[in-house]
Amino acid sequence: MTRTERTDESREARSRVVVVGGGFAGYNAARSLARAVGDTVEIVLVSPTNYFLYLPLLPEVASGVLEPRRISVSLADTLPRTVRHAQGEVDEIDLAGRSLRWMDPEGRHHTTTYDRLVLAVGSVHKLMPIPGLSEYAHGFRGIPEALYMRDHLIRQIDLATVTDDPEERRARCTFVVVGAGYTGTEVAAQGVLFTRDLARARGLGDDAVRWLLVSRGRVLSGLDEHLGTTADRVLRDRGVEVRTGDTVEEATADGVRLRDGEVVPTRTLAWCVGVRPDPLIEDVGVELAEGRVVVDATLTVPGHPEVFACGDAAAVPDPGRPGKYTAMTAQHAERQGKLAGRNVAASLAGGRLRRYRHRDLGFLVDLGSTDAAANPLHLRLSGLPAKTITRGYHLLSMPGNRLRTATDWVLDAVLGRQSTQLGLVRSASVPLDSSSPEVPHHPRMPFPPERSAGDREATGDRS
Ligand SMILES: Cc1cc2nc3c(=O)[nH]c(=O)nc-3n(C[C@H](O)[C@H](O)[C@H](O)COP(=O)(O)OP(=O)(O)OC[C@H]3O[C@@H](n4cnc5c(N)ncnc54)[C@H](O)[C@@H]3O)c2cc1C
Repeated sequence: MTRTERTDESREARSRVVVVGGGFAGYNAARSLARAVGDTVEIVLVSPTNYFLYLPLLPEVASGVLEPRRISVSLADTLPRTVRHAQGEVDEIDLAGRSLRWMDPEGRHHTTTYDRLVLAVGSVHKLMPIPGLSEYAHGFRGIPEALYMRDHLIRQIDLATVTDDPEERRARCTFVVVGAGYTGTEVAAQGVLFTRDLARARGLGDDAVRWLLVSRGRVLSGLDEHLGTTADRVLRDRGVEVRTGDTVEEATADGVRLRDGEVVPTRTLAWCVGVRPDPLIEDVGVELAEGRVVVDATLTVPGHPEVFACGDAAAVPDPGRPGKYTAMTAQHAERQGKLAGRNVAASLAGGRLRRYRHRDLGFLVDLGSTDAAANPLHLRLSGLPAKTITRGYHLLSMPGNRLRTATDWVLDAVLGRQSTQLGLVRSASVPLDSSSPEVPHHPRMPFPPERSAGDREATGDRS
């Protein structure tokens, strides 16, 4: 018997686990599973990109602090070699047949069977029936959106510099962010510094730039009050108009109308109003709660002991808040992913599955410059101490690219930011509603399929 034959035979005998999604939950599920089972189990990770995206630092890409590759951590370089990455997007799951269909970046469909399935597809923007929203607003979920926003902010200041029309200049220098959760708060806090520096450098003056943060609730509601009051104070000190108890009722090409009737001329509407689970799971045929896959405390889907779900896409019972589900945060997704990986290993070995428990380690919000708000281990920090802890935490939490990220931070502090527009991402490529039929491909795919889809079996896939 040749070596190749032996390898193929042992491969055939192995169980296959498919993890769908390579974010906080999926990445950690694949990694902890691989560590637990070595090469005794075949692990396939299906995700549209060949990197893990460290989302909490996305606003720093949009505001020019970090280059996009810093927060895009290579799957191949950081996951155990036993994890096989299948680059693509799952569009169908057949629970009865224990198989799923996915499309690769060249538009080809593949079918892959599994013995265990981990659903970790995360979330997408939460939309609202507001006229003009899907046409004129942009959000923050991936690198293309952050790159688009970075170019857009620079372009608005550049165009404001050349126009002779004072009304147009004012509109281009006005930026509206809706939603004061961690994303909207960080975008406004970082964006005002970025655009103000640009405006100064172009000779538009110190007061040329206007930012509005519009939110129904208080800043960072749902998090520790200290974080909200600190962020609120920092934003107002920087001149951001914080409009709590307000919302946008209509968006047009020239501006937005707020609930109180005020019309704000602007060319920028950043939509940061929360998230909802990825629409893929709506069609899977499992029970959903608040749009998330219902799981028990071991992250197993009831009635399907071979299926696990974790992260934003899963309704995981929160042991600290009986009757509630865990919040959609990176902290929960990462820990649930690790547990899902270990529980899959246990289920394959006939072992005991563990229940999800967590200890709240606090939260961190980077507000740009030397400011942050943090409550690590419930210690209330702000200013430079919070900033130091926040950046240290991010570096420790990133599974790679730490030195490159830290270097960008140092360069930003010493040299300032670059204001070149690359123009790589156009507005139509990063729509708010990625599930709309008009969208040719998922914006998380790095590029649209190259040729039309034709179903075929993937080499080496069992069906
Ligand atoms: C801008 C921003 C800032 C944030 N800041 C913080 C913060 O400071 N602190 C914090 O705790 N949380 C923060 N969050 C929330 C946190 O990032 C999420 O809770 C966390 O990413 C959830 O992890 P996940 O693995 O469930 O989903 P994700 O990290 O979103 O990963 C989902 C994965 O599934 C893939 N996927 C989706 N659909 C498919 C499909 N059909 N087929 C295959 N793959 C698919 C995606 O490409 C992705 O790889 C932030 C979120 C955003 C958007």
